[in-house]
This record gives sequence, structure tokens and C-alpha cells, in this order.
Amino acid sequence: MPDLQQTTFTLEDLRARAGSDGPIPPEMRLAVLGFPVEHSLSPAMQNAALEAAGSDIRYGKILCPAENLAEAVGFARQAGFLGLNLTIPHKFEALQLCTELDDTARQLGAVNTLLFDGSRTAGFNTDGPGLVRAIRDVFSFDLRDLRVMILGAGGGAGSAAALQCALEKCPRLVLVNRTEDKARDVARRAAALLHTDRLEGPENRVTVIPLENAALGEQLARTDLVVNASSLGMKRTDPRLVPAALITPDLMVFDMIYRPAVTRLLEDAQAAGARTANGLSMLLHQGALSLEIWLNRPAPLDAMRAALQQAAAAF
Ligand code: NAP
Repeated sequence: MPDLQQTTFTLEDLRARAGSDGPIPPEMRLAVLGFPVEHSLSPAMQNAALEAAGSDIRYGKILCPAENLAEAVGFARQAGFLGLNLTIPHKFEALQLCTELDDTARQLGAVNTLLFDGSRTAGFNTDGPGLVRAIRDVFSFDLRDLRVMILGAGGGAGSAAALQCALEKCPRLVLVNRTEDKARDVARRAAALLHTDRLEGPENRVTVIPLENAALGEQLARTDLVVNASSLGMKRTDPRLVPAALITPDLMVFDMIYRPAVTRLLEDAQAAGARTANGLSMLLHQGALSLEIWLNRPAPLDAMRAALQQAAAAF
């Protein structure tokens, strides 16, 4: 058996496996498809979970360009896969390939988990619920009770986080994005989800602000949780989205990035005395929820957490 954390398979490998041939081992009946996908930590986490659960099934990673998703899903089904995880750039396109969707995938407009069951392809989204569990795990707060600011709210992860906040009926939602129009689109969708007869405030509960210090400062004073869903912070040379001086000790700062483990934003937040967490907990909880869908039983969270921490540290 190849090392499934180290090995990245290709579409050709998957095609061969559909014909009962090639390098993908028969036990590998789950995988993450993405482009890029080489750096995914999911195989380490999911294989630890499958082992702990006493399952013979194994999980790998497959490099799949955007235009080949439908083909790859067909091959995986033919090869007897139980399901798939989908990452960049497949989460939106995958909606079209599902015969049914869970409520979250429909409301978020994105799918990160597929379950093959006979002729059915069921699509789920565990990213949003994974964020909810991560916030509870790392800060001991429920997302629904927090006034949230999302940086990078127009991107894939940011829009999913914003819409999940809306589903949770968060009391305030401030959306920030370099390309403001994208945040406005997300705000419209979030406002539609937020609307209830029970919760009406004197002000608009979803606000879009420009990426400017004055607007950020004004809104941060009325924020409990800052979520960085932008890709800024992955490189040490990336500029700051939020000036260090605007971060106050009463804030909770969650950076979806987990490589590096401590981004400049988290460093600034720690220096200001704020509570901080990186995105590893979100990766853990979305993965645990996917596993529960595939195996239909609770995920061995401790084994997954330990494997994830070890894989992240080794990277
Ligand atoms: P994406 O769809 O490409 O979105 C990127 C976001 O970053 C957009 O909002 C973009 O703004 C913003 N951005 C990029 N460069 C910028 C710059 N120079 N200045 C200001 N804003 C900039 O990517 P994604 O899939 O949402 O992923 C975003 C981050 O979340 C990545 O770091 C990813 O690793 C992380 N993530 C983590 C998890 C987890 O489980 N922890 C899950 C998903 C994603 P524009 O709209 O203006 O381009």
C-alpha cells in the first residue's frame, strides 16, 4: 500500500482504478479531489479516523483539474468509492452533479462532501457546520451569539462562513472584501437567510464595509469575533489586512489559515491580548462531519485531532 498522505494520484490513476487496474489500492474508497491538492492534510486525518473506527477503507488525494470533475466523479463511482471530499476549485461545480443536496449545501450553494449510494449522489456541505463546531471548540462560544466580522467575505471560504453565520442568525455580520462587489452579493444572500419575524433590529444586521482603516476600526469596536477567510497571511511577506493597532484584547480572532500555524494576524492579536485560533480546528470538524456522513456513526475526534496536529507539524 502506498503512503496515502505522501502520494497524490491523478485522474489517469482513477480512470485505471475504474477498470480495476493502476496504482490506486482497492482499499482506497474515499478521497479528496482538488487542484491543487498535494498539500492536503485530510488523508492523514481521515486514515487515522478510519483505522480507529476499525474500517478497512482508506482515504487518498487525487489531483483533478476543474474541467475534469464530472469525469472523475464518474470514475470514482465506477471504482466503488463510498464518497469524496471536494476542495478548490470544485465546490460550486459539484452542485450540478448531485441527485440530492442537504439543506446546508443548498443554502450555501457549495458542496464539499459527496456520498455515493446506489444510483444516488448526495451532496453535503460540512464547511459551514465545521466552522460552528470549531468556534465552540476553540473559544467555548456559540457562533450564533457572536457579532462577527469576516475578512475575505467574497471568496469561497468567506462566503460560506458568512452564509453559515446568517443561518445561525448571528446578531451582527460585517463583511469585508478587497473586491467590495463580491461582498455585496454575499450580503444580499446572507440578508435573505437572516430574515425572520423574530429577530428585527434597528439597523441592518449585515453590513459591508470597505477595506479601510477608519471603517475597520469603527466596526471592530462592535465585533466579538474576527474571521480571516482571505488567503492573506499564507506568505510571510503578505501585507496586513487589519492594522495591529486596531486589534483589542476583547476580540476573538480566528484565522482559517493553518499553514503557517501563527499568521501575522494571529501574532498581532496575541500581542494585543486577544484570544486566537488558527484554521486547523475547522479542518478537523469539517472532516469529522464528512466521515460521519460516510460511515453513519460518530467520528473518533481525538484520533483525528492527534493525526492532524502531527501531520501539520511535520509539514
Ligand atoms: P478564494 O476563494 O480564492 O478567496 C480568496 C479571498 O482572499 C478573497 O476574498 C480575496 O479577495 C482575498 N484576497 C486574496 N488576495 C488578497 C489581497 N492581496 N488583499 C486582500 N484580499 C485578498 O480562496 P478560499 O478557498 O476562500 O480560501 C481562502 C483561505 O481560507 C485560504 O487561506 C484557505 O487555505 C483557507 N481555508 C481554510 C479552511 C479550513 O478548513 N481551515 C477551509 C477553506 C479555506 P477578492 O475577492 O478581492 O479577490
